[in-house]
Amino acid sequence: MASLGFEKLLHTQELDTKLSQLAHAKAHHPLAAKIAEIKAHAAGVATNVESEREHRHGLEREQKRLDDEIAMIDAKRSDIEAKLYDGSITATKDLLAMQEESKNLAARKTRMEDTELEIMEQAESLQVVLDKAQSEIDADEAKIAELQAELADALIALDAETEAATAERAETVADVPPDLLVAYEDLVYSQGGIVVARLAGGACQACHLNLSAVAIDKIGKMGEDAVAHCPQCGAILVH
Ligand SMILES: [Zn+2]
Repeated sequence: MASLGFEKLLHTQELDTKLSQLAHAKAHHPLAAKIAEIKAHAAGVATNVESEREHRHGLEREQKRLDDEIAMIDAKRSDIEAKLYDGSITATKDLLAMQEESKNLAARKTRMEDTELEIMEQAESLQVVLDKAQSEIDADEAKIAELQAELADALIALDAETEAATAERAETVADVPPDLLVAYEDLVYSQGGIVVARLAGGACQACHLNLSAVAIDKIGKMGEDAVAHCPQCGAILVH
């Protein structure tokens, strides 16, 4: 049976592994990735909406232009009609020319009204597209808010676990002899991974290689608090 210090060092390593897993879980939470994905989708829809809105403004400007022109035609026609009936023009040739102009203006007005109708229809179907995009953005935003609340809860839980493991580590290392702890921390810093392992069945449980009979014999003769390293991977061996 290994001494308490070695057992506590093994537990320290377990807690360190847990702490780094917790840090990773906090930094790379799947909900954060999901939120980023939905945000990107909403931003894409918003960009499309922007160009559709510009298209709609263009249609509105065109409609306004047609309205103005139709109003001008109406004014011109009432002017002509007034002159036709107020007796100021008597020459038949002039009267016929004016009647002809009035007829032409009426035909032009009809064409403009047809164009305007087409523009209004386009604006209507554009509005359907815009409404659909807006409801997509609204749904994205609602989902983002929901996931953000979920993520906040998850992070609070991870923080609590981290706090508990940190407190447990502080308690655990108090029972590890300082030189053993330094040896451990040096190995964690220089090579990482599993740096403390049991020597079981003649094999290092970090690299799973068998130690030579000579090496095992040598470790067997060491005091229970002596620090032995695996000749293969350098891990501190709990013997
Ligand atoms: Zn080893």
